[in-house]
Parts: sequence; structure tokens; C-alpha cells
Amino acid sequence: MDKALAQKVIDRLASAKSPALFTHLRPDGDAYGSLLGLAHALKDRGQTPTLHVEGGMIPMYRFLPGSELVQDVPDQLPAKADAFVVLDTSTRERVGKKTAEWRQPVDLVIDHHVSNPGFGTLNLIVPEIPATAGVLFRLFEMAGWKISPAAATCLYAGLSTDTGSFRYRGTDSQTLRIAASLVELGADPSEIAKHCYLSITPERYQLKKLTVETLSLKDNKKSGFLTIKPDFYSKSGAKSEDTEGIIEEVTSIQGLEVASLFEFSKDGGLRVSLRSKGRVDVNAIASFFGGGGHRAAAGIRFSKDGEKNRDLVLAAISQAIARLEA
Ligand code: AMP
Ligand code: MN
Ligand code: MN
Repeated sequence: MDKALAQKVIDRLASAKSPALFTHLRPDGDAYGSLLGLAHALKDRGQTPTLHVEGGMIPMYRFLPGSELVQDVPDQLPAKADAFVVLDTSTRERVGKKTAEWRQPVDLVIDHHVSNPGFGTLNLIVPEIPATAGVLFRLFEMAGWKISPAAATCLYAGLSTDTGSFRYRGTDSQTLRIAASLVELGADPSEIAKHCYLSITPERYQLKKLTVETLSLKDNKKSGFLTIKPDFYSKSGAKSEDTEGIIEEVTSIQGLEVASLFEFSKDGGLRVSLRSKGRVDVNAIASFFGGGGHRAAAGIRFSKDGEKNRDLVLAAISQAIARLEA
């Protein structure tokens, strides 16, 4: 992490009385964990941050301390806000539709996505740390800011979920050191794991069951894809956030290099999730289609031509796998 840049970020955060904190659409554990982790650190310093996520808090992460502070994205940047901060978000668009029209520039971006173009005035993007929560931990440590048990719990949840429970490539000794420090500061790994991994609702389970049934293996069983059709939601009673983690079912197949999940929406749009076991760079594939993410986990969103775009993405995956064998 660039120390001089990190110090500028600390100074910018410290100088804001009421920073407005945002994260990405379809938030995951790192999105909520870093949002709430930063909020605790700032509140403990006497600052009054506001927290905004499109759609508000999802039930699964309500166990995170401070989750009641999370509000939906307002129509305008709060009048009191003296810093516009975006966490864990790889592009400006992923902050959400509502904010797209705001004329205020994003003051500060804190992230770990290698594909992040740096859309803020000040950008701290640290791809060598596998979660934004870990970047924040290093930042607080450098600043000498208090990390309460509540903050540690939120940051640990972000780090754990973004590393697939410390299983993905990118999990290194530094990651585990950060995790150990967070445990020393009060995060409870088994309690957090219970909420993040062992609390699937029956509706979510039903959606997973329907989706897993659609598995199709390709490219000599080196790639596999799942499909979510719009009616799976009415059939299962699940919500859109309940798709998180389903793709791991495919990734777990022996010999597979790339897993993908195609979620079709009623209006013809398509959301794509891509995972690689390491040899194929799925961020390169996603970026080609206007998406992004990391080498081993990336995503794309198409507003139309769902089926056509699915075929194009599948062809790009086949090509990438063919190149491995060449
Ligand atoms: P997901 O498959 O939605 O879990 O996303 C995997 C990774 O790719 C995450 O780190 C996301 O932040 C990133 N990502 C997903 N969708 C997009 C997108 N449309 N544009 C840029 N990055 C994305
Ligand atoms: Mn995220
Ligand atoms: Mn993240």
C-alpha cells in the first residue's frame, strides 16, 4: 500500500465531519462490512457519517453491528455531506442509477478491484489485499484509529466473504495476519461464519436447487454454466441477493477452469458472474464486455440482448480455455 497516498486518504477522511459513505449495487459481505467498518471507526472519532446502499440493508447482513444505520440512496447527496466516499466499487456506474446524475464528484474511492479506473478525486486501490475491509484495516492501523469489536466484526465479515472463507487465490499471509488482528480486536470467526455461511433461508435454498439443476458443462468439462430464469424468483420466493454463492457450486467441480452464471431479467437484461480457478483471467473476459472485477471473480451486466450476449461470453470462455490447451 502506497504510504503517502494512504496518508492523504486518512487526512481527507479525518477532515470530513459528515462524510456520506456508499458502496456498490447488489452489495456483498465486503460491501456492507467495509461500509459499516468505516462508519464505526469514524463514529468512534466523533464524526457523523451517513451510510447509503441502493435498496438499503439486506436481511442476511443485518447481524452486522450498526446495520440499522444503513439507508437507501437518497435522491441527492445529503446537504450536510462534506465528503462523497465510495467503497468496494469497481466503477462509477456500480454506485447505482440514482447517483449517476449527481453533479458532485466522488471525493474518495477505497477499493481493491484491479479493474477500478480510479473514478474519484483521490483513489486508494489496493489489489494485493483481497477485500476492501482489509484495505480499511491497514488504513486504520496506519492512522492509529481505534478499531472497536463492532468495527472488527464488520471488517472480518468483509474479509472472510470476499476470500470465500480464506480459500481463494489472493489469500496470503498478510490476509491471515489481518484476520488474526481482527479476531484479537473482538471479531468472533465462528459466530460470523454462522451468519454468513450457515443461515441460508429455505427460499434461498430453493433458488439454489432450481439453479443447480440447469448446469451445463462445456469445453471438455473445463467450463460450466448455470442459468437463472426470471420465474425462478416466483417459484422459490427468493430475492435477487439470494444468488450470492450459488456459482461456487460449479467452481467446486473437479477439473473445471471457469464457472459462469447467467441471470436473465424479465426486461431482456442479463447479469453474468464469472469465476476462475486461477489459470484463466476472467477479469479480462469481463472487461472486454464492459464489466470487471478480479482475475478469479468478475461480473458483467448487459441491459439487453441477454441470449445473444450469453452466447458471446460463452464463446470468449471457450477461446480462453482453448488458449490454455494450445
Ligand atoms: P459477482 O459475480 O457479482 O459476485 O462479482 C464478482 C466480482 O466482479 C466482484 O468483485 C464485483 O465487484 C465484480 N463485478 C461484478 N459485476 C460487475 C460489473 N458489471 N462491472 C464491474 N465489476 C463487476
Ligand atoms: Mn463487493
Ligand atoms: Mn470486495
